Amino acid sequence: MPTFKVLLLPGDGIGPEVMAEVKRLLNFLAKAGIADFAIEEGLVGGACYDAHKVAVTEETMAKAHAADAVIFGAVGGPKWDKVPFDVRPEAGLLRLRKDLGLFANIRPAIVYPALADASSLKSEAVEGLDIIILRELTGGVYFGEPKTITDLGNGQKRAIDTQVYDTYEIERIARVGFELARKRRNKVTSMEKRNVMKTGVLWHEVVEAVHAREYQDVQLEHMLADAGGMQLVRWPKQFDVIVTDNLFGDMLSDVAAMLTGSLGMLPSASLGELDPKTRRRKALFEPVHGSAPDIAGKGMANPIAMLASFGMAMRYSFNMGKEADLLDKAIAATLSSGLRTADIRSEGASVVSTAAMGAAIVAELEKLTG
Ligand code: NAD
Repeated sequence: MPTFKVLLLPGDGIGPEVMAEVKRLLNFLAKAGIADFAIEEGLVGGACYDAHKVAVTEETMAKAHAADAVIFGAVGGPKWDKVPFDVRPEAGLLRLRKDLGLFANIRPAIVYPALADASSLKSEAVEGLDIIILRELTGGVYFGEPKTITDLGNGQKRAIDTQVYDTYEIERIARVGFELARKRRNKVTSMEKRNVMKTGVLWHEVVEAVHAREYQDVQLEHMLADAGGMQLVRWPKQFDVIVTDNLFGDMLSDVAAMLTGSLGMLPSASLGELDPKTRRRKALFEPVHGSAPDIAGKGMANPIAMLASFGMAMRYSFNMGKEADLLDKAIAATLSSGLRTADIRSEGASVVSTAAMGAAIVAELEKLTG
C-alpha cells in the first residue's frame, strides 16, 4: 500500500471544521487499505500569528517542502485585521505559493446534477458542466516591475503595474494545460488579448509553438479573453481546459465559480515545476472559499470544497485517479440523496451539519469501494 506524506494546515475560521472531514476521509482510506498517509499538521494564518507572531513558521515551511501534498483550509478573519501587513494571515498562503513555486492554479467548475438549479444560469446551460480554468499564478501584472505610484507634483499621481511574461513561463503553464486536457476531453482554449497587449502576442505564439512541437493530438483553440468571458456565461459546456494568465485567470475563474452556485463546493490545486528525478510536483490543495467567520464554530460549513480539494490531491499528487473519480461519485450520490448543508439548501432537502455531510460522503465512498 503506498504511503504519502501529507501536511495538513487547517488555518482559521471554518478551516479546522472542514479539515476534520478530510481527516475522516484519510482514516477511512487507511483503514480500507486503499492508501496510507504519514500525516503532519501545522498552524498557518491567524492561528499561527497568535502562537508565534508570524503567518507561517520556518518549521512548517520545511514540512511543506518535504510533503507530497499540502492540504490547506482557509486563513483570515476580523480578529487579525489590524496585525502588521507582512504577518497578516494571507501572508502565510502567499509564502507557501511563492516558496513552493506553485505557478499552475487549477480550478475546476463542476456542476453536480442535483445542484444545477443553484446556478444563476438556466439549468440546461450548466447541468453536468465539468471544465477547468488553469491560471498562471506566479507571473504577469500582479508581480511585474516596475510597480509604483509616483507623485507627479502637479496634483496628479501616476500608477504603474507591469505585465511581464517570459517564454519559459508560458511554455510550462501551456504544458500543464495540454497534459490536463489529454486526461479529459482533449481540448485546450488559450485566452489572452493579443489584439492590444504584447504579452498576449507572445502568449499566443508560445502556446502555438508548444502545441505544434509536443501536443498535436490535443485540440487547441484561441480566444480573446473578453470574448472568452462572454462565452463562459453563454455556453460554458463548449470548454474543457481554459489556460490563461494571472489577471485574466483571476477573473475568469471567479466567473466560472458562480456557474456552479456555491463557494462551498469549489476545490482548487496549485502545482509547481515537475521534478525530473522524482517526476513529482510540489503541490498545495485548498478550497476556493475563505474562513467564513460569519458561520465559523457553528458546524454549518459545507465540507465539499475541502473534500474535493483532497480529491484533487489524490488525482494530481498521489496517482489515485480512480479513487478520486469514486470520491466525486460519492459526493454526487450524497447530494442526490437529498442531503444539503445550509449554503446549498433547497426545497425538500434535509439540512445537515458539516460532520454529518462528511460522514455521509465517506459512507457512500465506502459503498463504492467495498
Ligand atoms: P468567504 O469565502 O470566507 O465567505 C463568503 C461567504 O460564503 C460567507 O457568507 C460564508 O459564510 C460563505 N461560505 C464560504 N465558505 C463556505 C462553506 N464552506 N460553507 C458554507 N458557506 C461558506 O469570504 P469572505 O467573507 O470574503 O472572507 C472571510 C475571510 O476569509 C477574510 O479574512 C478573507 O481575507 C479570508 N479569505 C481567505 C481565503 C483563503 O484562505 N484562501 C480566501 C478568501 C478569503
